[in-house]
Amino acid sequence: MTKPEKIPKTDILCSGYCARCETVHALGLNDAREQSLLLMQKLDQAGRIDFTVPSSEADPALSTDYVFGKALGQMFGAMTYVNSDNEQGVAYAFSGQYNAIWEVDGWVPPIVDTLEFKDLTQNKALEIMAISAEMEDLTKGSDKHAELGLLRKTMSRALMDKIRYIYKLPNFRGETRVLPEIPPLGKGIPAGTGDCCAPKLLNFAALNNLTPLGIAEFYYGKENKSGTKQHKTFYPSCKDKCSLILGYMLCGLQT
Ligand SMILES: [Zn+2]
Ligand SMILES: [Zn+2]
Repeated sequence: MTKPEKIPKTDILCSGYCARCETVHALGLNDAREQSLLLMQKLDQAGRIDFTVPSSEADPALSTDYVFGKALGQMFGAMTYVNSDNEQGVAYAFSGQYNAIWEVDGWVPPIVDTLEFKDLTQNKALEIMAISAEMEDLTKGSDKHAELGLLRKTMSRALMDKIRYIYKLPNFRGETRVLPEIPPLGKGIPAGTGDCCAPKLLNFAALNNLTPLGIAEFYYGKENKSGTKQHKTFYPSCKDKCSLILGYMLCGLQT
């Protein structure tokens, strides 16, 4: 855990293909690497991600014990930017939810409206769970079991489709598109697309008239099972999800 952080081999970790411009848009690291190192220090020292609030108000669920436990580590990111008054700043993001929490003081919010997300998923998730419970009482391989299995699959897919439509992504041309309208037609959109650090940070910048200067993402916490992600190591934006949307999101940004 005292292992020094690895320095990225490249100076670009955030990029994606833009279908409109027929080219790859990329954002360099600039000061985002140094800011990420500072963020790692803050996490080390505070031992929690809600380090902007006094320790008396700290939420135990936001302790970094979480990423060193069963949940394993997760990705964090820093973006340096300049605002419309030409002042520089830095914004932080964690990927997805942190211990089932979407919004934490001091970090950029998720792209999805969490109330809308909850509204959409809560009842459907309960229905899907009820079907699973019913299936448990049936013999595997029976007609009824297979029928319910198919129903559950269809319902989960329909829910996933609906969730994609409540992700509204801006870019630097002043456009906003829902997730399914971004990747080339026929490309499947994996669950969790839009929840990584880079899209969250770019969303925050575009909505607040900030010009990003650099983005860096690193893994923090217990190494993942396959060993491909290690504590305090920088990684490029992911291929399976972010490569589908970052080209669109970076479009219009003069880099
Ligand atoms: Zn990603
Ligand atoms: Zn473009």
